[in-house]
Amino acid sequence: MDVVREIGRLKELRPSWARPVGLVPTMGYLHEGHIELVRRARSDSGTVVVSIFVNPTQFGPSEDFGRYPRAFERDLEMLRAEGVDVVFAPAPAEMYPEGFCSWVDVEDVTSSLEGESRPGHFRGVATVCNKLFNIVDPTRAYFGQKDAQQVAVIRRMVRDLDMNLEIVVVPTVREPDGLAMSSRNSYLDAPSRAAATVLYRSLVAAREMRRAGCRSASAAVSCMSDIIRSEPLARVDYISVVDPVTFRQVESLDGEALAVLAVRFGSTRLIDNLLLE
Ligand code: AMP
Repeated sequence: MDVVREIGRLKELRPSWARPVGLVPTMGYLHEGHIELVRRARSDSGTVVVSIFVNPTQFGPSEDFGRYPRAFERDLEMLRAEGVDVVFAPAPAEMYPEGFCSWVDVEDVTSSLEGESRPGHFRGVATVCNKLFNIVDPTRAYFGQKDAQQVAVIRRMVRDLDMNLEIVVVPTVREPDGLAMSSRNSYLDAPSRAAATVLYRSLVAAREMRRAGCRSASAAVSCMSDIIRSEPLARVDYISVVDPVTFRQVESLDGEALAVLAVRFGSTRLIDNLLLE
């Protein structure tokens, strides 16, 4: 497995890679969710490239960039065990050298929810993904449904800017009790970790309502809200039902409807989502 830190070196290696090339962008501190993306890429690709880069530009000034968990050597071991060919792990100054001033701004789909709660977040995400796509030139890039609005933003960017790759979305991997796997789960103390199961329970309750014939998005939101507010450690940031492509709020559950939420437990902010089918 090649571990590459420089963009120039990666571009030198590129002509020797067997195509198709699969790229899995990550911020490291890997778990089974990331590994599921890697396995999907492995089964589709001649060459699998995993990037590990805690991207400073997608964190707000009061967010957790400084304390974001890191375990680089352990990550490399996990990726070696999955038969990954290349790990790209640049330093921040390699990606954002002195004078960097070009950004990708995806409008509209970024105006709500995560985009509203985390100003500038999706500009950082879209810019770093565009850079990674240019550096690696993948046939496909793999993203998790766990970050559903990120998926919508990247798909929009690829379509709008005619980028030459396919975006593959992998279902959310969950702990046995339903909590979506996330590097940020490591911040949770035992009581918050136990309380955090309320997120998936509320999403499943909304899906059950839909399956039982409910067509009202606001009824589904009220149901999720009641369940989450019954947990004293949970502080709701948002709960909504949206169109999974535009991320605009929907009123009826007749079409495609995605239940999405962001909830804080102490200083840890968790997101999750479920298609109401
Ligand atoms: P991150 O390292 O958090 O930026 O995540 C890297 C990629 O892994 C993103 O495309 C995430 O959506 C995806 N991912 C994170 N957690 C999960 C999960 N529990 N299941 C599936 N994909 C995930």
